[in-house]
Amino acid sequence: MVRAIRIHATGGPEVLRLERIDLPPPAAGEVRIRQRAMGLNFIDTYQRSGLYTLAALPAVLGMEGAGDVVSVGESVAEFKIGDRVAYGTELGGYAEERNIRADRIVPLPDAISYETAAAMMLQGMTVRYLFRETFDVKPQTVMLFHAAAGGVGLIACQWAKALGATMIGTAGSPEKVELARAHGCTHVIDYRNENFVERVREITNGRGCDVVYDSIGRDTFPASLDCLKPKGLWVSFGNASGPVPPVDLGQLKGSLFATRPSLMAYTGTPEALRATAADLFAQVAAGRITIRVNQTYPLAEAERAHRDLEGRKTTGSSILVA
Ligand code: NDP
Repeated sequence: MVRAIRIHATGGPEVLRLERIDLPPPAAGEVRIRQRAMGLNFIDTYQRSGLYTLAALPAVLGMEGAGDVVSVGESVAEFKIGDRVAYGTELGGYAEERNIRADRIVPLPDAISYETAAAMMLQGMTVRYLFRETFDVKPQTVMLFHAAAGGVGLIACQWAKALGATMIGTAGSPEKVELARAHGCTHVIDYRNENFVERVREITNGRGCDVVYDSIGRDTFPASLDCLKPKGLWVSFGNASGPVPPVDLGQLKGSLFATRPSLMAYTGTPEALRATAADLFAQVAAGRITIRVNQTYPLAEAERAHRDLEGRKTTGSSILVA
């Protein structure tokens, strides 16, 4: 029996339940991990609320974690008991121990702690694909990035700076504005007190941005489109304020491009997962990116963690510990 946070029905944070569950031995192709830290991500709230549909209930929430391999199923050659490992795209994370497909985990370098890994695998690999694959960010790139003081946001601030790009960030309080700036964001707009479209136009001398990374969704649509230059790219990668309403293609005036990417699609093969994780580990090892674990919650307090995340009380990354 292991302790885990499960939901039996979708709903508010109160549906998160601490339970003891039976864990079978790992199946063929799987390993069992004793988790030392688990990541908290906004997608967990979408899955809990029902905005994103889970395949079956009850379900252990959580997509991310890091720990030690304690048992190995049949036909797993690449991992052995005692290996340090991490992952960021597999449901079932909020638990002391879990089974997971071996092709969805990566070896964790000794220099990276379990806590850092649990805080960054999902958010850091997201920034990696957003900046290196969805759009190839270069020193001349001017981008708008919403929620710049969040988990994904603070990693984005540092990665954009490392690439030499101009990042215009938005954040929801003066303290968050300062935090984003301190992490390398070139210009930061307090979008609760300033009109971000007007400020982007001022900062770019009316030209607009090459790319807008929008994870806010409903509240920043369609204003984010007005921040783009002709033929610019709108990357709608999240819905923290609610889903984007149906888009009329006519709204992409100025020959804009639009995409709705997901980490799962960009790390869908073991090769892509390893390449994405390797680049993230390299940035951290080189000191270009430092992961801020600004909130740590006991596993049993996952409900409070969800309330804080949805209540815009967190900054940087958050983890759960058993
Ligand atoms: P964050 O730490 O960024 O938390 C979300 C932030 O969004 C809040 O802190 C808040 O910052 C801002 N926000 C704006 N409006 C609201 C609102 N109505 N309710 C709550 N928050 C709001 O979370 P994550 O780093 O975990 O994720 C950031 C976003 O990236 C999420 O939308 C997530 O779904 C998305 N994502 C998408 C992935 C993909 O592959 N498509 C992968 C990973 C994350 P402020 O107060 O500054 O406005």
